[in-house]
Amino acid sequence: MNDAAPVTGGCLCGAVRYTLVAEPVAARQCWCRLCQYLAAGSATTNVIVPRAALTLNGALADYASHADSGNAMHRHFCPSCGTPVGGYAGVRAHLYVLRVGTLDDPDHYPPQATIWTDAAPRWALIDRDKPCHIGQPAATGAS
Ligand SMILES: [Zn+2]
Ligand SMILES: [Zn+2]
Repeated sequence: MNDAAPVTGGCLCGAVRYTLVAEPVAARQCWCRLCQYLAAGSATTNVIVPRAALTLNGALADYASHADSGNAMHRHFCPSCGTPVGGYAGVRAHLYVLRVGTLDDPDHYPPQATIWTDAAPRWALIDRDKPCHIGQPAATGAS
């Protein structure tokens, strides 16, 4: 893993705070139907980071569900303010999907790609100048 200057973030109410000490392995937006619930109608914007490089402080609620693949997914949110902080796939627990809106500086990691474009509503604004995937790309796990 690449060492990087610590990047910090947390939830809206401040009960959850984190520090990230490695560069993300991916930065992207996800339009899967589930993310539209998490993001109140839009895509989620995420960075995928090595779990070992992330220190999370504060209690997170865990909503577990199963993806279409059958994989167990965990989604973490602050039980006080409801901010979706991140989540992970059970089969890729070494990676963590962090919601970019929780970064203290959301400008830090601009999205580099869009996934699940086929699930987006017709009015979605999608950056077609960057790579787009109609569904889930291989390897880095669901957002
Ligand atoms: Zn909170
Ligand atoms: Zn998604």
